[in-house]
Amino acid sequence: MPTNLKTVVIIGDGAAGTIMANKLRFHSDPSEIRIVVIGNSSRHYFKPDGVHIPFGFRDYRNSVKPSAALFNYGVEYLRDTVSGINLDDGSVTTVSGKTIEYDYLVIATGDRFTTGDLPGYDQEAFHFYSLEGALKLKDRLKDFKGGRIVIGQASIPIQCPPAPYEFTFQLDQFLRLKGIRERTEIHYVYPLNRVFTIQNVAAYIEGLFEEKGIIVHKMFNVDTIDSGSKRINSIEGESLPYDLLILVPPHRGQELLTKAGMADESGYVDVDRSHLNYGSYDNVFVVGDATNLPISKAGATAHFESEYLANRISSEVNGNAFFESYNGEVACTTITGPNEGITLFFSYTKPPRANFQSKSDYFLKWTSSDTYFSAMIRGIM
Ligand SMILES: Cc1cc2nc3c(=O)[nH]c(=O)nc-3n(C[C@H](O)[C@H](O)[C@H](O)COP(=O)(O)OP(=O)(O)OC[C@H]3O[C@@H](n4cnc5c(N)ncnc54)[C@H](O)[C@@H]3O)c2cc1C
Repeated sequence: MPTNLKTVVIIGDGAAGTIMANKLRFHSDPSEIRIVVIGNSSRHYFKPDGVHIPFGFRDYRNSVKPSAALFNYGVEYLRDTVSGINLDDGSVTTVSGKTIEYDYLVIATGDRFTTGDLPGYDQEAFHFYSLEGALKLKDRLKDFKGGRIVIGQASIPIQCPPAPYEFTFQLDQFLRLKGIRERTEIHYVYPLNRVFTIQNVAAYIEGLFEEKGIIVHKMFNVDTIDSGSKRINSIEGESLPYDLLILVPPHRGQELLTKAGMADESGYVDVDRSHLNYGSYDNVFVVGDATNLPISKAGATAHFESEYLANRISSEVNGNAFFESYNGEVACTTITGPNEGITLFFSYTKPPRANFQSKSDYFLKWTSSDTYFSAMIRGIM
């Protein structure tokens, strides 16, 4: 091995880890940077399709690819689970007993669902946040003849904050196509005093909810789910009956990061928001859903973060000056109705604005799994 060869270890083979590895490969020569991805998923699921699959609007087989097939030539992919991170030694250990040393470490381990945090969740709630969840909900919706649907999220933060409202618009459309919308009440619960985290977007979405007859319950922080009486109760004292409960599960970051001393019990890591490095380490970075950043938990965020970090690492290794910083840029498109969608552009300094829906935004979102698998995940875009 050439002595000046640097090793970049990336933990995680989801959106952030794969985009990061492929972008860095484009930016660097294999004689200068060795890229090792350690990940434990055999398949890569395009999660945004979770808002289509439960309604049969999309065949789930188009939303899944083998993880190993998505890495560009020159990226080493190791199927394993990282069990320890040793920041002092500059190494990681794996469940299969390997120790791998790094010059740069990029953590892209995403987050996990902790349904045990909410008693009653596993017995009663459906969701669309994983492929298994989306397919189970599809089965349930097949038999649904009308009634009262309560939909919302169990806690904050969650992946892709717009997904619950996007799903609700799709649900409304599905019930209309099935001819049972008149026989169904949709109740949307949200933990804040608006229907989305960002005020301007929330006001726009609330207007659309009103047009479609979706009933909103704000300041509804889920406290308990009572499977006997089929009621969901909030900390604020509101209690809603349901025939079908669709609730985004509680999320936390990975235990690995808590164990490594990098995160508290939430499992999310505090990073420098402009440089993405952890603490005083200038060679340890966290990208994607694993961070505690305010604008995070979207594949689009992972994409922009990886662009910044791949540039930075390759410049440093090449001895070039690099003065850029990550400005929190994100672009996110959601469907808001039949043939309608909106795209939100934002950064740390520019809040998003939602002013109008368009057909082109709808198609942008509708085709996003094709764009994702053919270009985005490959680091081409
Ligand atoms: C319903 C839904 C809709 C969404 N819609 C959008 C959208 O429209 N636009 C958008 O931008 N985003 C959207 N998202 C969010 C987006 O999918 C996530 O933000 C993105 O997947 C995060 O990527 P990540 O790599 O950080 O995490 P993940 O994709 O979850 O990947 C983490 C990977 O790390 C691996 N891993 C974890 N721990 C270890 C370990 N110890 N050792 C080895 N490997 C490990 C996991 O197996 C996994 O493969 C949506 C999400 C959902 C659920």
